This record gives sequence, structure tokens and C-alpha cells, in this order.
Amino acid sequence: MERGWEGAVLKLLRSKDFVLTVTGTEVVNDRFRRIHVTDGGMLAVTGVHPTMWVRLWFSKAGKPHQRGYTLVDPDPDKGTFSLEFVLHEGPASDWARAAREGDTIEATVHGSDFTTPDPPPSHLYVVGDAASLPAINSLLDELGEVPATVWYETSHPLDARLPMRLDPARHDLRTVARGGGGLMEEVRSTLPDLLGKHRDTDDYFVWVACDTVTTRSLTAYLRKELSVPRPRVKALGYWRPD
Ligand SMILES: Cc1cc2nc3c(=O)[nH]c(=O)nc-3n(C[C@H](O)[C@H](O)[C@H](O)COP(=O)(O)OP(=O)(O)OC[C@H]3O[C@@H](n4cnc5c(N)ncnc54)[C@H](O)[C@@H]3O)c2cc1C
Repeated sequence: MERGWEGAVLKLLRSKDFVLTVTGTEVVNDRFRRIHVTDGGMLAVTGVHPTMWVRLWFSKAGKPHQRGYTLVDPDPDKGTFSLEFVLHEGPASDWARAAREGDTIEATVHGSDFTTPDPPPSHLYVVGDAASLPAINSLLDELGEVPATVWYETSHPLDARLPMRLDPARHDLRTVARGGGGLMEEVRSTLPDLLGKHRDTDDYFVWVACDTVTTRSLTAYLRKELSVPRPRVKALGYWRPD
């Protein structure tokens, strides 16, 4: 696929390109579709890390569109992983709705990085939504025994019924319906007290991946108002609201 200026920039940055092939699809519900792929040799070259994502290339009206998607259960030995798509408007969602076994999609690896805190934090604080659910699940898997508080924003009734890998004994889920700044309010009203517990040790970690506007506000709040040290937070906007 012709990739336009974005593709040219990525090439200059020595990104790595692969072709993924669909081996099966699953309808999780009307809002969420899981697609299994073989990796075209990708994982053997790149390795894997929690929250790992790729840039997939979709075509619409002859134009290339690059979108980020998270690897679900990557298996480097088998060269396989899955992708989980929230369905809405857009070229990526359209591709996922129509995907069939044997379809291929081009993937570029550039920019995905995450180092698991070492030693592990005593508590994980996560703010996300359906688009970042695959990444949230990979974090919860990776940080095994670490207790976590998850603020999860829903923008569709089915978002509350998506497969989150929660262990009720260790994970506290706080679901907030999207709109009216509800997520921000909820985090503001609860996080300062929770972080107060770590005042002497600073051994917590905050991970944020919501829409770009909310992520920016939350990051500014964490850094400026709560003085969360930079190494204690990782934040990335996952989608652009209208
Ligand atoms: C690092 C990274 C990892 C990501 N991983 C995943 C993943 O595993 N699964 C996943 O589903 N998404 C993931 N995303 C988000 C995904 O890339 C975006 O949602 C993307 O915009 C979808 O492309 P599209 O072509 O379907 O829609 P677009 O053409 O980008 O947008 C079309 C319309 O849909 C709206 N829209 C876009 N995304 C959403 C959303 N999530 N919820 C509600 N409305 C939306 C837009 O505001 C616009 O109105 C990830 C993003 C990043 C940066």
C-alpha cells in the first residue's frame, strides 16, 4: 500500500514493516471484535513487551490511514497474536468488521515501548477505556500480584461487558460513563487520597490511555497538581474525539 508522508517519515526512522495474515475472527459482542493473526516474522524480530502496539495500515478511498492497535496474547514461538477492535466509524473499524481468514494487513513497528517497573510497584493506578482495554489487560497480566485501581470510561453500554482480566481480590474497578467530565471528576475525587498512602515510599505507578483530550488533562493534573514524578507515570492518548 502507498503510505504517503507518514510512511516516508517512519521509513526514515528505520521502522520495521511486516504483513499480518488473519487466521480467524471472533465476535465478542456488537461493539468488540477479536481477530487472530500470524505475525509475518514480526515477534522474532521485535520481541514483546506489555502494552505493545503496532501501526496498522488501512486504505479508504485510495488513501492510507495508519492506526495503533495493541497485541493481545503475543506468542513469539508460534508467531501469532490477536487484535481486539472497538467498533465505531472509521477505516480500521470497517476493516475489522469485514475481516476474514486469509486477509492480510500491513503493520509497522515504531514507537511502542514499555518497561515494567523494577522492582514492581506496590500499587498500579490505571485510567482507560475500551480502546485501551487490551493494553490494560496486558498490564494486569504482567504485574501479576500487584493490586490495581482501574478507572474505566464507558462510551457504549456494551463497554461495561468487555473481557477485562480482573481479579476481584486485587483489582478495584471503577466504571464511569463518558460525558460531562465525569472521569476527570472521579479521578480527582479519589486519586489524591489513594496516592497519599505512598507519600513515604513513592512506589506506585500510574498508567493512562484515554482519548487524547482526556489523557492530556489527566497528565497535566498528575504532574502539576499531584506532583507525580515522571518515572511514575506513563500516558498516551489512544483516539481523537470529534
Ligand atoms: C498505542 C495505541 C494502541 C491502541 N490500541 C487499540 C486497540 O487495541 N483496540 C482499539 O479498538 N483501539 C486501539 N487504539 C485506538 C485506535 O487506534 C483508534 O480508536 C483509531 O482512531 C480507530 O480508527 P478508526 O479508523 O476505526 O476510526 P477513526 O477514523 O480514527 O475515527 C472515526 C470516528 O470514530 C471516533 N473514534 C475513534 N476511536 C474511537 C473510540 N475508541 N471510541 C469511540 N469513538 C472513537 C472518532 O472520534 C471519529 O469520530 C489504540 C491507539 C493507540 C495510540
